Amino acid sequence: MKITRRNLLSGLFALPFLFACAQMGGNAGVQRMYVINCGENRTNDLSRWTPGLNEGKAWVFSNHCYLIQHARGWMLWDTGISDLVAASPNGVTTANGLINARMPKPLSESLRELGVAPGAIKYLAMSHLHADHCGNANLFTAATLYMQENEYNAAFGPEPQKFNFVASNFEKLRASPAVKLKGDHDVFGDGSVVIKSAPGHTLGHQTLLVRLPKAGPVLLSGDMAHLQDNWEQQRVPSMNFNKDQSTQSMQSMRAFIAQTGAQLWINHDMAQSSRIPKAPAYVE
Ligand SMILES: [Zn+2]
Repeated sequence: MKITRRNLLSGLFALPFLFACAQMGGNAGVQRMYVINCGENRTNDLSRWTPGLNEGKAWVFSNHCYLIQHARGWMLWDTGISDLVAASPNGVTTANGLINARMPKPLSESLRELGVAPGAIKYLAMSHLHADHCGNANLFTAATLYMQENEYNAAFGPEPQKFNFVASNFEKLRASPAVKLKGDHDVFGDGSVVIKSAPGHTLGHQTLLVRLPKAGPVLLSGDMAHLQDNWEQQRVPSMNFNKDQSTQSMQSMRAFIAQTGAQLWINHDMAQSSRIPKAPAYVE
């Protein structure tokens, strides 16, 4: 082949260009995501989540787990309400009668239908350690755990109940390899799945950016906001760990969304979530 200036240039540029494509996600990153129904929370008083509004109003919050297929393995974000609750069709009432949690279909059954054994989950992260997000954490002892260090220390320290954490929900993860975070973290190093620190609901609460190959960037809310209206009006539930941090996190996530163009998927918003395909369907 005759070496021309043009050949030389294309040869030089091809390799970096391929690397750049791989880093942007594409086929090398996230392949698909399953949104799994992981129970629901009912309440007789929505006002605890919307201070000053909805006194005595009954409400049903949706709840999900998110199973992400990445070229390097399966990642699970949140583990839902405990599968044990599935044995009680009328649910289990907690928080002094404020919340009735129901789990119509166990997570272990949903995973079995997808052909994914709990031991195949290599990466586990939860938005925070309230019972509706970590109820089945003990199933995933084969995974590396990604958690903010302060949330981790509160959970596995001497007084988890002080933070409204129930240690039995996640006790088996005590021996798991853990990456303790102090802020944001790019899980696979390719920008396709990024944990974003968003404290306030709990001391180490976090959200998750997932760059899907077709749908584009999606930010999974955790409990940064429970309802679309709360997100728009920047309302902070009265039970949050830190109100000012909650407000700051909503502001920083708003800036992050503007910068990335991500869609915000609000885990507990039933109306919004009903428009998203659920497992066994998936989003790409
Ligand atoms: Zn929640």
